[in-house]
Amino acid sequence: MASQSAMNAGTVPDAERGRLSEAAAAPICPACAEASREAAIERYGRYELFGCGACGLQFWEPREMPDARWYEQMYGGRDENLLPLEPGHKYFLADPLAPRSGELLDIGCGTGNFLAAARDAGYGVTGIELDRNAARFARERLGLQRVFPLTIAEFAEQHVEERFDVVTFFEVLEHQAAPVEFLRKVKECVRPGGVIALSVPNRERWLTGPDVLDYPPNHFLRWNAAALRKFLSAQGFAVLSIREQPAGLAHTAQMMHMALRTGISQAAAGEASASFRDVMQMTPDQAEAVLRAKPTTRQRAMEILGRIKIAACFPLAVAALPCVRMRGYKGTYMYCLARLGD
Ligand SMILES: [Zn+2]
Repeated sequence: MASQSAMNAGTVPDAERGRLSEAAAAPICPACAEASREAAIERYGRYELFGCGACGLQFWEPREMPDARWYEQMYGGRDENLLPLEPGHKYFLADPLAPRSGELLDIGCGTGNFLAAARDAGYGVTGIELDRNAARFARERLGLQRVFPLTIAEFAEQHVEERFDVVTFFEVLEHQAAPVEFLRKVKECVRPGGVIALSVPNRERWLTGPDVLDYPPNHFLRWNAAALRKFLSAQGFAVLSIREQPAGLAHTAQMMHMALRTGISQAAAGEASASFRDVMQMTPDQAEAVLRAKPTTRQRAMEILGRIKIAACFPLAVAALPCVRMRGYKGTYMYCLARLGD
């Protein structure tokens, strides 16, 4: 990881970038190791987004995953509540090609909402979660005894003999700086012929503005179905099913809200969006100060106005949904089930 960051073009002055990007500084695709010859698709702060001509993955440079404290800070507040199941979880539980029982390991299990549902569906369940508060919630409130505050590398090292029938990682792969190494660790935990199930944000989802969560250092990789299929096949998995969520009502309302910004909500939404993307870039201490600061009266008023505006978009979205469906616009979630070769 460190050597990759050292090699990338991020620290090269603009004037030299064109020359160097054709030589040693060409960014290397983290999925298939091809050198990218194309110019950056997008820039954000010190980061640049590249597309791989060989496998189709889009990846940011430089990539350096934040520590556990960062995730606790950015995703805190999700620790104390049992969240509803996400579409990826539901797709797995309803997938006719998925095994219906056996031992299941969930990577990044959060407060354990999916693990509890999987347990109720008949699986033996184990989870790993770096957010200690979330892991504690899963153990104490949901009675999930086997939830460990470990990375997949630490878990694989400490449970050398343990193999699972199913290993799941929902909304995890897009965060990885080094996806090949990550999947290698996953493979160590899957029994021969066992399966993996995962979800990632679909790069081909319908967007009318930037998705503020989909930036580094939160997400480093942007997948579509073709790139995901190539990546998993190259790593020894046979893809059994891929399911792309179609754009639904809430997504349509959100996209209309972004597209039809009035002056007031533009200020409100603009402030909120820019600040989250910006907060992600700050040092832990700076971020803590911003996240702890009380919102001003104006910010609170803007937030309420923004919510009213999204609510006002729902009737519009109901009217537009048949057309959105007909055009095949995609939603955020892409789910995939794949079997490890024997
Ligand atoms: Zn590639």
